[in-house]
Amino acid sequence: MSELQKSCYVCERIEIWRKGNNPHFIYEFENSIFVLGEHQYHRGYSLILLKSHVRELHELLPDVQTALFQEVMTATSAIVRTFRPWKMNHSCYGNAEPHIHWHLFPRYDSDPDHTRNPWLHASEFKDHVIDLAEARSMIGEIQHHLAENVSRTSKESYPETARRIES
Ligand SMILES: [Zn+2]
Repeated sequence: MSELQKSCYVCERIEIWRKGNNPHFIYEFENSIFVLGEHQYHRGYSLILLKSHVRELHELLPDVQTALFQEVMTATSAIVRTFRPWKMNHSCYGNAEPHIHWHLFPRYDSDPDHTRNPWLHASEFKDHVIDLAEARSMIGEIQHHLAENVSRTSKESYPETARRIES
């Protein structure tokens, strides 16, 4: 996989995280980092950023494709446990930022347009930027539920290892 690219917004965010300066950081997976969205029009909106600068999902090695999808699912389960949405939406485009990243949108049936696509109100996202105190509080809740998910996932994927650890 290629090195981080200058002038790539996602690479810049990864670099900020590596320096310990990303206040929206939630969790580091093997292939990606899990971050809270800076706006919360959809409460719990988060992203998964691939650590490497790769444009297309199909360019990843098959085992990385599988592992990355599992990381997206582990993050999703934590969001669902934390915010109890009506539905989860996932999107991975990379048209504006050619670096693999997933948008994780919790949807709520209280939203008037909950059956339509989550970008419908994108022009209003800027009105729902949260402050750092609120971000820290939400991140703490997600991390709490993520810890349960990570432990459960490793038990399912590696039952022998989990048994050894428990005994
Ligand atoms: Zn990049």
